Amino acid sequence: MENPLHIYNTLSRKKELFEPHEPPFVGLYACGPTVYGDAHLGHARQAITFDVLFRYLSHLGYKVRYVRNITDVGHLENDADEGEDKILKKARLEKLEPMEVVQHFMNAYHRNMDELNVLRPGIEPRASGHIIEQQQLVEKIINAGFAYEVNGSVYFDVIKFNEKYGYGKLSGRKVEDLLSNTRDLDGQSEKHNPLDFALWKKADPTHIMRWPSQWGDGYPGWHLECSTMSIKYLGEHIDIHGGGMDLLFPHHECEIAQNIAGSGSAAVKYWMHNNMITINGQKMGRSLGNFITLDELFSKGHKLLNRTFDPMIIRFFILQAHYRSTLDFSEEALSAAEKGLHRLFNAIALLDKIKVSKNGVVRADELKERCIAAMNDDLNAPVLISHLFDGVKMIHSLNDERVTIDEENLQLVKEVFHTFVFDILGLSPYNKVSEENDDLSGNIIEAMLNVRMQVKERKDWQTADEIRDALQELGVIIKDRKDGFDWNIE
Ligand code: ZN
Repeated sequence: MENPLHIYNTLSRKKELFEPHEPPFVGLYACGPTVYGDAHLGHARQAITFDVLFRYLSHLGYKVRYVRNITDVGHLENDADEGEDKILKKARLEKLEPMEVVQHFMNAYHRNMDELNVLRPGIEPRASGHIIEQQQLVEKIINAGFAYEVNGSVYFDVIKFNEKYGYGKLSGRKVEDLLSNTRDLDGQSEKHNPLDFALWKKADPTHIMRWPSQWGDGYPGWHLECSTMSIKYLGEHIDIHGGGMDLLFPHHECEIAQNIAGSGSAAVKYWMHNNMITINGQKMGRSLGNFITLDELFSKGHKLLNRTFDPMIIRFFILQAHYRSTLDFSEEALSAAEKGLHRLFNAIALLDKIKVSKNGVVRADELKERCIAAMNDDLNAPVLISHLFDGVKMIHSLNDERVTIDEENLQLVKEVFHTFVFDILGLSPYNKVSEENDDLSGNIIEAMLNVRMQVKERKDWQTADEIRDALQELGVIIKDRKDGFDWNIE
């Protein structure tokens, strides 16, 4: 291929040629949600980022084994080793079984992702279903000398690992700097060093989610599940591992340390991270009152918004920014995205009405080349979208018969739009109700315009003008022609 796929590798901090270990097979692991609350915009951005990657790799002909986990145990408050398990806390507050909490929010997550047209992964493993495998990895790490047991818990020895392999390569952090920024252990902690992290935690007597182990009853540390399940399903050479930038440290850094300590292998070749979403320029957070769930956005409403938005508008809005850039969310930005998406789908609908001519002048191969080049440049969806909008202009010129196109090139334009808009960006014609309403309002407008034609024939100019003005106030612009009229909505 002349213009092969390059992706940005967080590990090397540069764009690299994409070369899987065993083409055409690609192993892709994306960190999934911790299912203790409703999915929000951050979940949408991460899922859509890796959905587009999955779709594009499949489009290129790779056979992708796509694994996205569900965290249903072990993720403690503040992403640290102390504090309550997020799911247990929710279960305690709602007086539910922890697995009821998990099931409820997992179902809701799947529903939201379906609404966003995010394809489901090939394997969706859950942490609680892989306790034995996690215990086996802990044993391997202990046997390799990089973990120690204290009072029923097992901790990863970061200092010892750092001496042999170097810790902090992914995040670019140095152990010395991390140590100087960490409070000294006050003698309460069991850890040898404050940077050490839990592989297995002892369950206190009230802890419900617990499993027997050779170290006593307990539960796995959060980072352990992704190392375990990615290796189990993708082997010790994983092509791509991704997640949100908030997972880069410590979660992914710890995963790398576990993988290397457990197997001696570097495991992941390309690390990919999507950037965060801000709300009106502010970080999103429950305490800031700007936390918007997908259900609120799609149907329930939120105090920061005057209306709700179709999931396809959210998807298009997210794709308008490169996945490595921050994306600022606001109602104005969403409304702009909605207009853009309308234009895109209107143009696609026009494609079926365009007449071909034998000596057509418009060529479509360049459009296709530019779209491919955008995706091959680290999945540059915003640049791809700008090329598609050049195509939209071209479609309007063809529709207005200002330029001509032959059959072969028209087919190519159709192929480009269908492939890139539907298959790769994963956009789908949306908002059926509103489309039906559009049909209805279109029919009403046509009926009024026919009445206007009749009154004009009777030379009732005043009524004709009144109908025209009334429609104009609704944004319907009428152009009289010799043989009738044209109309469009502003
Ligand atoms: Zn993970």
